[in-house]
Amino acid sequence: KFSSLSILPPDALLGLMAAYKSDPRETKYDLSVGVYRDSNGVTPVMSAVKNAELRYLNDQTTKVYEGPRGNADFCDSIENVILGDNSLVREEGRTLSFTTPGGCGALYVGMNLMSRLGISKIWVSSPTWPNHINIAKSSGFDVGEYRYASSETGGVDREAMFEDFSQIKKGDGVIIQGPCHNPTGMDLSVDDWRALGQLSKDVGFAVMLDIAYHGLGEGLDEDMEGVRAFIEAADDVMIAYSCSKNFGLYRERVGCFLAICEEASSVASVSSQVADVSRAAWSMPPAHGAAIVATILSNNGLREIWEAELSQMRGRIQGLRQELSEKLVLKTGNETFQHLTTQKGMFSQLPFDAEATHHLREAYGVYMPASGRVNIAGLDSKEIEHISDYLARVFIE
Ligand code: PMP
Repeated sequence: KFSSLSILPPDALLGLMAAYKSDPRETKYDLSVGVYRDSNGVTPVMSAVKNAELRYLNDQTTKVYEGPRGNADFCDSIENVILGDNSLVREEGRTLSFTTPGGCGALYVGMNLMSRLGISKIWVSSPTWPNHINIAKSSGFDVGEYRYASSETGGVDREAMFEDFSQIKKGDGVIIQGPCHNPTGMDLSVDDWRALGQLSKDVGFAVMLDIAYHGLGEGLDEDMEGVRAFIEAADDVMIAYSCSKNFGLYRERVGCFLAICEEASSVASVSSQVADVSRAAWSMPPAHGAAIVATILSNNGLREIWEAELSQMRGRIQGLRQELSEKLVLKTGNETFQHLTTQKGMFSQLPFDAEATHHLREAYGVYMPASGRVNIAGLDSKEIEHISDYLARVFIE
């Protein structure tokens, strides 16, 4: 009976966005949004995307299903951007890839595959993007957390992380975020990646890498250095890849699930399992967004435009990080805000607790979740002077 269902508590972030919208004050600042914004405060359709979309619409002759793998050119291009040219694992025929509805679709596939591998517990970083926990729990897993962030250094707490990893057992599953960790912006070093890959192989836990911000850290190849070192050291690896942010294709739902198998002979069986999971969940993946990405990545001119746009987005984020950091260090006299410049990607966590974030909202119209996570890419350079004033005031109080 429907009447037996209770109302779930509202999503805190959506609630915050609604409160921001209905706030009648003329000056208010939304630092909580989860999407990239340009200097005009909009999330534009990238021009490489617009261009590819027009070509695709012109050339498209049918809407029939593409098959369980989705767009093969898209899958191959994503394998290429992640693994690089001259990838040994690709040459050895040890990879497989499927188009999925967004990075979330890929995470869902990977977790279902973990379930079929007999895994019952999944470990995520503390903190992590809450939907990792959501998908894991609704897929029936126990969820464990490994320590990750150090508010003191503003980077990964390596000692604590490796200590917690030493408790992860053979037959457990682990999710590790790729570049631009959400919500902390704190990334692993290439040496950490290599060590984690080796550890996963030695202990025998399964790993899914979640790559949702490729190209927004330091560059397309630079951002994959750690991931490639991990793959080199590990045996079987799963990857969930999202094109939502780096192609600005959010609502088109474009993602890719990849697996790198220790033995080429596993590719057929893993592929059949992934196809079966996808068939049960969405039967066939969406085509439109994947076709746009495939068009861009297979055309030199469009790819150049896309890379230039991505590099501009990255530059804007780095510039905003620098500006906000300098102003906050100056206004608070506290070096902790220096960390904003070493953190990567759209998100960072500012040192404000639930009470302080509430005060920022009530007194100054500065909106951010109780965790203090802010989207640097949602800031407007013209507003940083005011925002940093308010943040500094509340920090000092
Ligand atoms: N992983 C992380 C860490 C994310 O932040 C996101 C997007 N917010 C995703 C995966 C996947 O997003 P999508 O399903 O929209 O591609």
